[in-house]
This record gives sequence, C-alpha cells and structure tokens, in this order.
Amino acid sequence: MEEKICLDMLIKRNVKPTAIRLLVLKSMLQAKQAVSLLDLENQLDTVDKSTLFRTITLFLAHSLIHSIDDGSGSLKYAVCNNGCNCLLEDLHTHFYCENCHKTFCIRNIPIPMVELPERFTLQSINYVLKGLCPDCSEKVRTD
Ligand SMILES: [Zn+2]
Ligand SMILES: [Zn+2]
Ligand SMILES: [Zn+2]
Repeated sequence: MEEKICLDMLIKRNVKPTAIRLLVLKSMLQAKQAVSLLDLENQLDTVDKSTLFRTITLFLAHSLIHSIDDGSGSLKYAVCNNGCNCLLEDLHTHFYCENCHKTFCIRNIPIPMVELPERFTLQSINYVLKGLCPDCSEKVRTD
C-alpha cells in the first residue's frame, strides 16, 4: 500500500520512479520529524551518499520535499503536502525542539506574512519556533 502511495506521489510530481527514489521517499514519509541528509544516510546505509544527495536535490526541485533551516547547522527535509508548490503562500511553521534536536512541520499553521518597506522584495521566509516537543515537554513535567 505504502509503495503505491509513494509511486503516485513521484508520478504526480513528474519524478521518474526508481527503486532508490521510492525507498528515500518512503523513509521520509515514515519519519515523524524532518530528517537531515545524515539521518537518511544512517537509515538507508545501502544507498551511497552521492545518490542520496542527488535524490534529495531532485525531490527539492520538484517540490516533493522542502528544506528547513532550523539553525542547527544542517538542513532538514520533509515531504510537502499535496498541492504544495513551495511558494511563500505554501509555507508553514516549523518547530525545533531544543532538547532532542528534532524538527517538526506544523502544517496547519501558515507562517504570518509581514509588510516590508518599499523596494524590498521578499523571496523566502525561515520561520522556526523553538522550545520543547510534546515528548520532551512530558519528560520535563514528570521529572
Ligand atoms: Zn513544498
Ligand atoms: Zn524533543
Ligand atoms: Zn515543513
């Protein structure tokens, strides 16, 4: 079933399905949080690093996934919603847990739009909230 979902997603985004692309997408869909290239390398240790990098670059170019700069020093990646074109109006909030260093997509909270002074052109917004994720909040409460 999951194979079929991944296959449909690749086709819908005009990405030619290959075994490796399916594998990478499936692993990203299964992750509850955004993943770094290193996370993927560790999880898919049968796939070589340059192939993995090329796959991520291709997915990004087709708006199949988006990247998140959470300030941790390495970019994280997460699968886009259906119909996302990675335009400013498609962006959602991200949450970085300062305790476990996981980054989450908060897909139902669009990022707030700001009014820029004249002659400034907005091209991207990096909107990352920081704090404790549900698991870590729980731990703090019970400690
Ligand atoms: Zn997107
Ligand atoms: Zn956490
Ligand atoms: Zn996201």
